Formats: sequence, C-alpha cells, structure tokens
Amino acid sequence: METKNIKAFGTTGASEPLKEMTIQRRGLMPHDVEFEILYCGICHSDLHQAHNDFGGSNFPMVPGHEMVGRVTAIGTHVTKFKVGDLVGVGCIIDSCRECEYCKQDEQMFCKGEVLSFNSPDKYLGGSNYGGYSETYVCDENYVLRISENVDLAATAPLLCAGITVYSPFKHWNIGPGKKVGILGIGGLGHVAIKIAKAFGAYVVVFTTSDAKVADTQRLGADEAVLSTDPEQMKQHTDTLDLILDTVSAKHDINVYLNLLRADGSVVLVGLPPENLPINPFNVVKGRRSFSGSNIGGIGETQEMLDFCAQHNITADIEMINIQEINEAYDRLLKGDVHYRFVIDMASLKN
Ligand code: NAP
Ligand code: ZN
Ligand code: ZN
Repeated sequence: METKNIKAFGTTGASEPLKEMTIQRRGLMPHDVEFEILYCGICHSDLHQAHNDFGGSNFPMVPGHEMVGRVTAIGTHVTKFKVGDLVGVGCIIDSCRECEYCKQDEQMFCKGEVLSFNSPDKYLGGSNYGGYSETYVCDENYVLRISENVDLAATAPLLCAGITVYSPFKHWNIGPGKKVGILGIGGLGHVAIKIAKAFGAYVVVFTTSDAKVADTQRLGADEAVLSTDPEQMKQHTDTLDLILDTVSAKHDINVYLNLLRADGSVVLVGLPPENLPINPFNVVKGRRSFSGSNIGGIGETQEMLDFCAQHNITADIEMINIQEINEAYDRLLKGDVHYRFVIDMASLKN
C-alpha cells in the first residue's frame, strides 16, 4: 500500500518526553477521507496512555483523539464528504459493523472497535498514530461533520470530552427537575456543566480546587462545593439524582454515593488507574447505583456536535504550540488547566 511520511509529535516510552517524529499515513482506500488537522485537544486519556498508566501502551506512540480539520482528499467511493469540508474525528475510527452494538450505532461496545491511536493498525501493521500530527486518514463512516459557524479550536475538545459527558446525560434522562452533581472540573467536567445546563438540569459542582469554586458559577453551575470541606459536603447528603464523576486519580467514591437520593447513580467516566472500593451499605441503602460510561456512538457524537453548535457550547481552551506539549502534560497532571489545552497544529510546521 502507498504511504505518506508526515510530521508528528509522539513519545518512545512511558517516561520519555514527547518530541517531533516522522510517521506514515496510509494512502486512501475507496471509503477514506484524508484531512489536514488544524487543532487537536489534549485529553487526560492521552496522558494516561503516554505514561502507560493502564499497561498495554505501545511505543512509539502519537496520542491525540480530539481532531478537527479540513478535508484534503477523498477516496473513490466517498459520498458523505468533499474536499474542503470541515470535519472531526474522535476516539473511534472503525468497528466490525456487524455486531448488535454496531447495528444500534453504539460502536463503543463493539469487540472490533478501533481507536484513533495505540490500536492495532490493520493496514500498516503495528499500532496506529493519533492526532498530534499533520494529517489523518479515516473511513468516512467514522468522520464527523463540523459546522462552518463554530469556533473550530474550541470545538475540538467536544470530539471526546463532549460526547463522553453528553452520552450519559442522555442515557440517564437528565433534564428539568433533575439535580446533577459534576465531580472534577477539568476538560470533561467543565463541558459537562455547560451541557447539563443546556439540558435544563440543576447543576452542583464538586471540586478540590479553591479557585474553581467561583469560576464554575461563571461557567453556569448553580452551586459549587469545595469537596475537601466536610461541612459543605454534608449539606448535599441525599439530594442528587446523578453524579458524573470525571476525576482522573484515586478518590473516595463512598463520600459521593452518600450524596445521592434513593435510586440515584454515580456514573464514572474518569479512569483512575487504581481500584475504587465501595462500602456495600452506600449502594444497598437507597437502591443507589454505581456505574460507568464510555464515550458514545458515532451517530450520537454527530448529534452532540449539532446540539453544541445550536446552543453555542464550546470548551474554554488554552491554545498551545506543539513544542509546549511537555509543559502542558505537566500542568494537566496537576489539574492546572482552564479548562482544556488545544494544540494549534500550524505550529508543527515551525
Ligand atoms: P482533566 O482535565 O485532568 O480533569 C480531571 C479533574 O479531576 C481535575 O481537573 C481535578 O478537578 C480532578 N482531580 C484530579 N486529580 C484529583 C485527585 N487526586 N482527587 C480529586 N480530584 C482530582 O482530565 P479530563 O481530560 O477531563 O479526563 C478526566 C478523566 O476521564 C481521565 O481519567 C480520562 O482518562 C477519563 N476519560 C474517560 C473517557 C470515557 O470515555 N469514559 C473519555 C475521556 C476521558 P478539580 O480541580 O475540580 O478537583
Ligand atoms: Zn479523551
Ligand atoms: Zn461491532
């Protein structure tokens, strides 16, 4: 198969910094779309994978799964896109297309799901490379359409952070009359505030960062609680219908289970690398649930992008040049980002 050499930023090992490298992209298959990546968000999952937090990371690795850009070429059978269209690619770039989950447009449950980086590359061998790079090639059925009217850089984070919080809010029927807690105000958490408000819910934020208490009200939260203050926490006991937990590191779930009303759920989307112990009484009493959610399907991702464009929802971003990526990773690890880093991919040409 024909390939193209392109510039990228990646890492050769879990304790190595990211640096410029040359990688290969496949030539176009009949259903492929090639696009120039204009902006790419930095999700905490990029950092987990680059640091091999879960084990099983493959190196060399080019992270990046919140890509937006403009189509530069299309395969002979592509019908959904043309050269010049604005497009996005998130976490999922292929799946088996035949299983019950693929048929119901929930590709994130498919055993044959292929992710946008660090997944086996069936065309070129080895693992595939993500969006910290000049271009991307993807089957048109996994490419999303981006409106011409949005702030493109601030829309990039919706490709992962947006769908990961939108999908559970839909599944658990969040809307008017529902009291929603959002735990951890980073990339996912701050977008969750905006989407939960657009759904009409009452939003209470739980943060470990003093400075974020006032700022989350600016983002639209109805109340903000400093979760390290037991007095403030106690006031919310037995009040919440759903708590979306976006925390990336080890923390005590039991404290939050106790804030749920009867039949309420804590829904985990954060991926702390450690186990999270649960006291049985905290779920048995009140018939409470502890569950999780993983991104969302391709159709739902398009629905989310259209919903956000219509409601003027984008991420609050700090734009960086790609050469600043290692400092950005250090700050992300400390929870010091307001609220999503996005790479201006033009800097890769420097
Ligand atoms: P992020 O921007 O780093 O935000 C995480 C937030 O968690 C921090 O801003 C901080 O919020 C809080 N936090 C961090 N360490 C903490 C600790 N030790 N104790 C309590 N709170 C802490 O990360 P993100 O990009 O939003 O991603 C969040 C998590 O979701 C990551 O684990 C990521 O891998 C995962 N993720 C999962 C999916 C999925 O499909 N399920 C998709 C994308 C990402 P405060 O300062 O407000 O406390
Ligand atoms: Zn992500
Ligand atoms: Zn499938």
